This record gives sequence, structure tokens and C-alpha cells, in this order.
Amino acid sequence: MCLACRQRAPKAELTRLVARDGRYEVDPTGRAQTRGAYSHPGCLEKSLCRPVRRRGPASPTV
Ligand SMILES: [Zn+2]
Repeated sequence: MCLACRQRAPKAELTRLVARDGRYEVDPTGRAQTRGAYSHPGCLEKSLCRPVRRRGPASPTV
């Protein structure tokens, strides 16, 4: 699922992201052991602006 637009897509069509220091970064290896997410290449800019979700009460997003 794409982090930015929340639409499903095959992993092959998505870019893998890793959570690091509260932000997502592109994971060029696709094998990082940290929490990950996926994004369409075209949605990367929006995805990288998103804070990493944490467990607990979800903050409302506009
Ligand atoms: Zn997308």
C-alpha cells in the first residue's frame, strides 16, 4: 500500500521506504531491518513529508 495515497499496488511498483529518526527515507536495498513503508514513485515527495506513525493515539491528519 502506498503511504501517500493509501492505494494498493504490487510491491514491484512501489518504492520501499524505511523509518529513520522519525522520518521516512528511500531504502535502495529494500532490505533494511527497520520499520518500512511503501510508496509509488510518483508519490514519494508526499510520502517523505509524512512523519513516521507510532503506536498510540493517532493524530488526525487533514
Ligand atoms: Zn501513491
